[in-house]
Amino acid sequence: MRSIAVANQKGGVGKTTTSVNLAVALARAGQRVCLVDLDPQAHATLHAGVQPGGHPISAYDVLVGGASLAEARVDAGRGLSVIPSHIDLSAVEMALAGKPGREAILRQRIEADAACRSPSAEGGYDTMIIDCPPSLGLLSLNAMAAVDEVLLPLQPHFLALHGLSKLLETMELVSERVNPRLRLLGVVLCMYESGTRLATEVGRDVQAFFEASGGRHSAWAGARVFQSRIRRNIRLAEAPSFGQSIFDYCPQSHGAEDYAALASEVAQAAEDLELRRAA
Ligand code: ADP
Ligand code: MG
Repeated sequence: MRSIAVANQKGGVGKTTTSVNLAVALARAGQRVCLVDLDPQAHATLHAGVQPGGHPISAYDVLVGGASLAEARVDAGRGLSVIPSHIDLSAVEMALAGKPGREAILRQRIEADAACRSPSAEGGYDTMIIDCPPSLGLLSLNAMAAVDEVLLPLQPHFLALHGLSKLLETMELVSERVNPRLRLLGVVLCMYESGTRLATEVGRDVQAFFEASGGRHSAWAGARVFQSRIRRNIRLAEAPSFGQSIFDYCPQSHGAEDYAALASEVAQAAEDLELRRAA
């Protein structure tokens, strides 16, 4: 199974919008996808059409209560399952304080799960997408310890690169200590205002940064800025309150067009990543 955490410690950059619409786009392309909501705000859960608290077992029980992924999973239809979040997830940090190995709990649950282990088996998953909260705390660490890839949504503004280095540092630590397979898949520019100078410059700066620092650390050497940019589109902001992905809410929108393009680029990138690993 391919596993991707959508992470950035800044809020409001497009993590949840990207997690849900990418998950649905991949499912529509025929994959079996598991969307894990690790943000206590539960926006991804709602956006995917699942009522937080409507299912007795959530991500909190998986991390703290010993529940399995199979017990927590909710079928959201058409190839998509959701591990729902709930506001009680905000207490994880405290509930697990001092517990040894607490950053690797999700990783263990995934390893123990038959549907994650064997994508080709009946009901097995091709891809897992994890929506991270806006911090680099225990929840994001659990995500990074569990996945092979990180996708970083970035909103083009002057301080965008600043946040990037903090996330890369964290990735370095996690890859050195718990998860040597961890790689930065790439950066996706969200809420992109096409035609503005700033948007173009930030895209160029991030690409230049990766090229200049290439090889410095294996976790992010060779990362890319995705060609597909997610334009600012009001339909993307409206869709969550209907519990629908952009593909159901407004299939003709720029938002649907951009996330479909991103999904095919992400699918394509799997091969490049294998090459990077082999190199
Ligand atoms: P994060 O998960 O990083 O906090 P969200 O995905 O929740 O960010 O996005 C923040 C807000 O911006 C949400 O209200 C969302 O609906 C809206 N939004 C996200 N992407 C776009 C976009 N491309 N165009 C317009 N609004 C967007
Ligand atoms: Mg979010």
